[in-house]
Amino acid sequence: MARIVMKFGGTSVADMDRIRNVARHVKREVDAGHDVAVVVSAMSGKTNELVGWTRDASPMHDAREYDAVVASGEQVTSGLLAIALQHIGINARSWQGWQIPIRTDNAHGAARILDIDGSELIRRFGEGQVAVIAGFQGIGPDNRLATLGRGGSDTSAVAIAAAIKADRCDIYTDVDGVYTTDPRIVPKARRLKKVAFEEMLEMASLGAKVLQVRSVELAMVHKVRTFVRSSFEDPDAPGMGDLLNPPGTLICDEDEIVEQEVVTGIAYAKDEAQISLRRLADRPGVSAAIFGPLAEAHINVDMIVQNISEDGSRTDMTFTVPSGDLDKALRALNESKNTIGFDVIQHESGLVKVSVIGIGMRSHAGVAASAFRALGEKGINIKAITTSEIKISILIDGAYAELAVRTLHSVYGLDKS
Ligand code: ADP
Ligand code: ASP
Ligand code: MG
Repeated sequence: MARIVMKFGGTSVADMDRIRNVARHVKREVDAGHDVAVVVSAMSGKTNELVGWTRDASPMHDAREYDAVVASGEQVTSGLLAIALQHIGINARSWQGWQIPIRTDNAHGAARILDIDGSELIRRFGEGQVAVIAGFQGIGPDNRLATLGRGGSDTSAVAIAAAIKADRCDIYTDVDGVYTTDPRIVPKARRLKKVAFEEMLEMASLGAKVLQVRSVELAMVHKVRTFVRSSFEDPDAPGMGDLLNPPGTLICDEDEIVEQEVVTGIAYAKDEAQISLRRLADRPGVSAAIFGPLAEAHINVDMIVQNISEDGSRTDMTFTVPSGDLDKALRALNESKNTIGFDVIQHESGLVKVSVIGIGMRSHAGVAASAFRALGEKGINIKAITTSEIKISILIDGAYAELAVRTLHSVYGLDKS
């Protein structure tokens, strides 16, 4: 007997037929004698609709009320799945975040989980009860609903798995695992059997939305055995209930991966904007003068490139922000123009950041050069480059996004043969 957390995303619970299908997946694990906690997302499209309503009500809405509205999608699916499970004879009960409780910090709309009390869930496993938990939500220090940021049900699931010391956390979605790149963009993408935590962290933070970044961080810190797998396969197909090697992709420590490729995957993030500040005074404190006001405006700055100044007096600074934050960033910079002391601001939106990721890069030379050569041969101009030990990120014009992803995917030999 094992303890398993099963998380089902929006497309997996999109309507009653799919919810009944999810109930069959749950029944399979219950029938095998396991303790089961299920975490559900809202029906696909629901959260977007709810977010739209809050914007319609007021563009400058109160974050606590945003949370009260957008958390409701998961309340519906958790109740419906509990009913569907009861209908097929399974003892199930729904749980909202506050009932467990899942305690978060006060950052409404993007709250972090601080603590989960798993004792009542565990007590009820002893009575043979299945817990159906609303993902994406918890309760803040102000005793109000708090949501965990978009895609946050993944994080709910991994955090619950850590709290109840589950043997496994299965993230069921509309693809049958983590691929070398988004399989919707590159049909030749290959499914990976295993991905190291560090690589998954980079892939998720560089745009692969298959797992929320925070969920990977938690899985890494708490050593949660996390599988990404499909809810669309027949729940009773052979091997689906395999305890140690279920179908899908295992996210694990790098030393569990025997044959490590140099490059594991390609990720991309659309809707990036670039800002350049021209002819800045090249003096101590100038970076703080630029990025301080942007941080205060809660703008997430990404690729930062500063030129070495030619004469020691003036330099240029270029960086990227999400396109949606461009106006806010320009406003913040212009308000601080006197303290920063730049000549002009230039900006461009509609860019895309394409990233090559792999822990094998640590010990291989020439990985970046191959990317630059391949993109050059396709006539794709590179606007900015940043690197870390295990990734290279390249900023290009949005129109070339798919071409660049496909090109890099084949250059590193990731295409399915
Ligand atoms: P859910 O609603 O189940 O949480 P998401 O839409 O959040 O599902 O995540 C699954 C999607 O992630 C897939 O449909 C796929 O298009 C996308 N995706 C992006 N990059 C990858 C990747 N490298 N491997 C698998 N899926 C990916
Ligand atoms: N329903 C939420 C969202 O769409 C959380 C999730 O699905 O993970 O962002
Ligand atoms: Mg998701």
